[in-house]
Amino acid sequence: MKRTDKVIAADRSYVAEREKNVPISQYFGEDTFSAKTMQEKLPAAVFNRLQDTTIRGKKLDLETANAVAHAMKEWAIEKGATHYCHWFQPMTGATAEKHDAFIEFTDEGAPIERFSGKQLVQGEPDASSFPSGGIRSTFEARGYTAWDISSPAFILHRGIGTVLCIPSVFISYSGEALDKKTPLLRSIEAINTSALNLLRVLGNRKARKVYATLGPEQEYFLIDQDYFYKRQDLLLSGRALLGAAPPKGQELEDHYFGSIKERIFSFMHDVEEELYKLGIPAKTRHNEVAPSQYELAPLFEEANLAVDHNHILMETIRTVSTKHKLAVLFHEKPFAGISGSGKHLNWSLADDQGNNLLNPGTTPQDNIQFLVFLVATIRAVFYHADILRATVASSGNDHRLGANEAPPAIISVFLGEQLSGILEDIEKGVTTNGTNGVIIDMGISKLPLLSKDNTDRNRTSPFAFTGNKFEFRMVGSSQSISFPTTVLNTIVAESLDVLAKKISAKGENTRQATLDVLKEEIKAVKKVLFMGDNYSKEWEAEADRRGLPNKKISYQSLPDLASDKAVTLFEKHKVLSSVELKSRYHVRLERYVKEIDIEAGTLCNIVESQLLPAAIRYQKELASSITITAQALGSAASLEPQKAVLSSLAGLIGSTYVLVAELKKTVEHVESLGSGEERAAGFGSRVRETMNAIRSKVDEIELMVDDEIWPLPHHWEMLFIK
Ligand code: ADP
Ligand code: MG
Repeated sequence: MKRTDKVIAADRSYVAEREKNVPISQYFGEDTFSAKTMQEKLPAAVFNRLQDTTIRGKKLDLETANAVAHAMKEWAIEKGATHYCHWFQPMTGATAEKHDAFIEFTDEGAPIERFSGKQLVQGEPDASSFPSGGIRSTFEARGYTAWDISSPAFILHRGIGTVLCIPSVFISYSGEALDKKTPLLRSIEAINTSALNLLRVLGNRKARKVYATLGPEQEYFLIDQDYFYKRQDLLLSGRALLGAAPPKGQELEDHYFGSIKERIFSFMHDVEEELYKLGIPAKTRHNEVAPSQYELAPLFEEANLAVDHNHILMETIRTVSTKHKLAVLFHEKPFAGISGSGKHLNWSLADDQGNNLLNPGTTPQDNIQFLVFLVATIRAVFYHADILRATVASSGNDHRLGANEAPPAIISVFLGEQLSGILEDIEKGVTTNGTNGVIIDMGISKLPLLSKDNTDRNRTSPFAFTGNKFEFRMVGSSQSISFPTTVLNTIVAESLDVLAKKISAKGENTRQATLDVLKEEIKAVKKVLFMGDNYSKEWEAEADRRGLPNKKISYQSLPDLASDKAVTLFEKHKVLSSVELKSRYHVRLERYVKEIDIEAGTLCNIVESQLLPAAIRYQKELASSITITAQALGSAASLEPQKAVLSSLAGLIGSTYVLVAELKKTVEHVESLGSGEERAAGFGSRVRETMNAIRSKVDEIELMVDDEIWPLPHHWEMLFIK
C-alpha cells in the first residue's frame, strides 16, 4: 500500500475516557498531591508543619517528612502507582526520572510497600551520564536530588504504568547546581528580595512577598505518525532536513484560527483532560499560522510552577499524540518555507496582596510604582540584551530568529504609543502637550488605565509590553523556559536594586526622587525602545547605528552567557556561581555542536542510502526508455526534451554525490578543531552551508523522480493529510 493510502485508511475513531458531562472543575488537580489533598490526608499538626516549611521557609524535620511520605504513598497507590521517582530537570533541556518501586521486604522476607521521609526528601541518582559542563570533573561524580516542596508531587500515567513524581532539584555533592530548577529557585529568591526592598523605598509597606508570574504559549506541529517514522530526519533531528516546498504553504492564511479538524480536536481534548487532572490550567487552543501547526496556552502561574507545568505539558502532548497515532514536532523549524514554532514567554511580577506590579494603577502612588517596575525591566533588557539573546540561542532557533516570522536577533522593547509618550514626557520633564503635561504636573496621577485592550500590538517585537506583562517572544518551542526566566528574574532584580539605591540616595521627597531617577534612567536606556517593524532591513541598520547587539547565529551569541559581566551579575544575586554559569555555557555550546553534527550525519544517511538510489533507479528507467523508444521509432523519434531531463537529473545526482563527500570532509575537519567555540562556529557556518547546498539539489531531484519510488513522505503529504 502506498504511504498516503495507508494514512488515509487508518482508523481515527477515538473513544473518550471520561464521561462528557463531568465538569473540569470536578477533577481538576486530582492527580496532584496538592495542598487540598494534603489537608485531607495529613494529620492537622503535620499539615501545619509542612505549611510552615513551604510558606515560611522553615526546615522540614524527619518526623514530618515521614508522615508526609506515608500519606503520599497511600494516596499514590490508590491512584495505581507502583513506583516513585524524583522528577528533575538536568541540563539536557528535558526532564529526568529514575523509578524506584515502593516494594521492600521485611526481615521475614514478606513484601511490603514502603516509602520513607528520607526517600521523599532526597535521592541519589547516578549522575555520571548527565551533562555537567565540567562541574563533575572538578568536584565529584555523585549527584543528589532533593524535593522541591513548592511544586506539588503528581501522578504520571503512561501506557499501563503509573508512577508518583516528586519535583526535585539536582545538585552535586558539593552543592553545585546540576539542573535548571536550582538557579530558577535562586532567581525567584533574588527578585523577591530586590522587589520588596524597592517597594519599601517607595513607601509600600503592605507587600510581604513578590514573585514572578509566567504564561508560556506553546506552539507545536502535528503530523501523522506513519509519515514521521518514515523520515529518519524527523525521528533523529526533529526537523525535515530536506523536502521540496509544496505549491501551497501558508500563503492563503487559512490555517490560523481555522476550524480545528476532528482528529486534532479529539487529540486536544485528550491532552487537556490529562492536563486538568494534573492541575495545569490549559486555557486557550487554536490552529497556528502554518499548516499543521497549533498552540496551547495555559493561564499564568507562579514561575516555578509554570516551568514545571510547561515540562509536563510538553511531555503530555508527546504521550497523547502517540496514543492518537500522531507525532508532535516541538522543533523551532520543522519545515523550511513555513513558520516555525516559538514559545512566547509572558512574564510579570505579582505581590502576595494579589497585585500585578506591571499593571498601571489607579492612584498616583500605584502609578509611580508601576513606572518604576516598568523602567527597571526596560533597563535590565537594555544592559543585558546580550545575555537574554544567548538564553534563546540554539541550533533550532537559528532557523527561526531573524526569518520573516519571528523576532530578529536584535533585542528591543516595544511599549506602544501611549506609554512611550509618557516615558518621553518624564524624560523631558516638561509639558510637551496638553494631556501628557497634565500627567506630569500631577505627579503622573492621570496615567490612564492601560488594559490589554487599549495597548497597541506589535507582533514583530522580541520583547513587548502587552498591557500588564511583558512578552518575550524569542524563546524556542522546544526549549525549557526555566533558564530564560532565571535570567529575566536576575537582570530585573539587579535593576530594581540599582533604582532603589538611586532613589534612596536622592533624599526625603520620594516622589520627586523617583521622578528624577526615572528621568535619568529613561535617557540612558531609551535606545532599546523601538515601536516599528522589527522585521525590516531599516531596523537592522538603525539598530546598528544605536549600537544594539545583533548576533544572528547562536555560536556568536552563546559566549555572552559566560562573559565577565554575566559572571558578576549572577554571582552578585547568588543565582549561579562562576563555575555553574560557565558549565551552562559549555553544555549549551556542546549541545549546539552535537545537534548539527547529528543533522549532518542524518542528511548523509538519507541522501546516500535512500534518495540517491531512488534517483538512480529513475535515471535508469528514463535512460532505457529513451534507448528503447529511439530503437522503436528510429530517426523519427524526437527525444531531445526527454534527453534534457535525463541530462539534468544525471547532473543533479552527480553534484549531490560531490556535495555529500564535501560535507563529510567538512564535518571531519570541524570535529577535529581544538576549541568548542571553533567547532560551534564550523558547524554553525560551513557545515550548515554545505547541508543547504545538498538540500537544494535533492529538493530539485525530488520534483523530477517518479512519486512511486520516492521513499520519503513529501511535505505536502505531511502538512496536509490527516
Ligand atoms: P496574547 O494576545 O498574547 O495571546 P493572552 O491574553 O492570550 O495574550 O495571554 C497570553 C498568555 O499570557 C497567557 O498564558 C496568559 O495567562 C499570560 N498572562 C496574562 N497575564 C499574565 C501575567 N500577569 N503574568 C504572566 N503571564 C500572564
Ligand atoms: Mg501572545
